[in-house]
Amino acid sequence: MSFDYDVVIIGAGPIGSTLAYKIAKKGYSVAILEKKKEIGIPLQCAGIVSKKLKDINEIPDSLILNEVKGAYLHSLSHDLRVKKDKNEALIIDRIGYDKFLAKRAIDAGAILFKQSKVIAVDSKSGTILCQNNRKVKAKIIVGADGPKSIASDSFNHSFKYFNATQYLIEINNKHDDIGYSNNENVGYHSNENIGFHSNENIGFHSNENIGFHSNENIGFHSNENIGYHNNENVGYHNNEIVNEENKEFKKINKDSESIINNKTDNSNDFVDIFAISKILPGFLWCIPTTKNSYRIGLFSNNDYKNQKIILEDFLSTNEKFKNCSIVEKYNGKIPIFDKNKNLVTDRMILIGDAASQIKPTTGGGLILGFDICNLASDAIIKSLKDDDIHILKKYEKNFKKKYSKELSYQLKVQQTLEILSDDDLDHMFLKLKEKNAEEIISKYGDMDKQSVLVKEFIKRGIIFSIIPKAFFRKLISIWGFK
Ligand SMILES: Cc1cc2nc3c(=O)[nH]c(=O)nc-3n(C[C@H](O)[C@H](O)[C@H](O)COP(=O)(O)OP(=O)(O)OC[C@H]3O[C@@H](n4cnc5c(N)ncnc54)[C@H](O)[C@@H]3O)c2cc1C
Repeated sequence: MSFDYDVVIIGAGPIGSTLAYKIAKKGYSVAILEKKKEIGIPLQCAGIVSKKLKDINEIPDSLILNEVKGAYLHSLSHDLRVKKDKNEALIIDRIGYDKFLAKRAIDAGAILFKQSKVIAVDSKSGTILCQNNRKVKAKIIVGADGPKSIASDSFNHSFKYFNATQYLIEINNKHDDIGYSNNENVGYHSNENIGFHSNENIGFHSNENIGFHSNENIGFHSNENIGYHNNENVGYHNNEIVNEENKEFKKINKDSESIINNKTDNSNDFVDIFAISKILPGFLWCIPTTKNSYRIGLFSNNDYKNQKIILEDFLSTNEKFKNCSIVEKYNGKIPIFDKNKNLVTDRMILIGDAASQIKPTTGGGLILGFDICNLASDAIIKSLKDDDIHILKKYEKNFKKKYSKELSYQLKVQQTLEILSDDDLDHMFLKLKEKNAEEIISKYGDMDKQSVLVKEFIKRGIIFSIIPKAFFRKLISIWGFK
């Protein structure tokens, strides 16, 4: 059989580009097929990653917008403050980072074809067909095409995901203060980019791009959103949104405002995480990118319309955000980890969101995905060297060996959270405070590996004392306690 490339990677997201770089730099021919016209746009990420990023992948300092020491965790009535001595997490310019990773792959020899939406894959022959009629053959195909992966669909049942909605918020409208708005930093406000809302961006506004520009995606590219770069307050404060939800956020905001509004700590050093029952097992985040700008979003089982209402309630009831501008609104999908998912078939593998390689507790996929790139590149390179595609199976085996236990643990945490009401959460937060959990979380908490903390809680007998008694039976069945 003759092939055009050793490896063809579908998707120039952070994981696809990182893997392309690792393989191309070893001298193999690599092509990346990306449906977008411009890499990284639209932003679909809160851009918070543990500082391990610096060990696991390269990141230029210019793409780090902020660093944070910890988090305030809020239930409706109580707060927990988790603080590390040193900065724990980086807030990154995700659009700039995707571009950086793609360029690094190209510099290592990979060829990037933009506006090349893949519409069919044949894993047996290694043939890939794009919407623009480009047809390529590869010894190995990598599906790194995100949560709606066409590569995964060809040999897996469709999988589950959460919806996510995020707003970029500016306070005081000081545009020159805001890293992510200038052309150098990210470029998504430059003319270069204007095309991404146009039809040129093949497949981006099409119906195939499920849920993205469909009606589900309420107000996303509607007129409501137009003019998101002028200083006007976009009007989220309007009467449309007066409903029961408001009361809830008035409460949560009243209690947390002293924290968010910078009374105890430098608010730029902390992220705020809000746990409320109607979005569990997801949460709402408030992430400072600079002193005047925030990424505020949530992931949950709600549809986009309800997420929008929840977010706008949050903004309209918080003093700090009353006169802010909404710079941009985004929607996206966060896959739910599926331990039974097949990752390898014939000459094709899946990686990243396409493989549901996402931490169930936080919805984060970057650190995990970058680490898994090492497992994938090892298997791919060995397979190419030995001219034996069966070696690819080692990737799936090694992934399961290294991650299945941790991710399954996190899934149990997710299932536990899902059954709680706001009163339960308040009760738990109060108990956690009484049990000195702030210190324990600060000491044992790890953004990338929650099993250590959960084990510590179990060891100290905290789990059973914080969970309302009514849930013991369910808890026992989720965790398999005897
Ligand atoms: C709102 C939101 C907030 C998040 N926040 C965080 C966070 O703070 N920290 C964190 O670690 N993770 C976060 N995540 C998750 C993180 O963004 C993903 O895990 C990460 O982007 C996965 O990278 P990927 O390369 O696998 O997939 P993607 O980033 O989805 O990239 C896939 C690429 O494939 C392309 N593609 C798709 N289909 C095709 C096709 N048919 N043909 C050609 N190209 C195609 C897409 O255009 C895209 O460029 C968040 C996700 C969302 C939605």
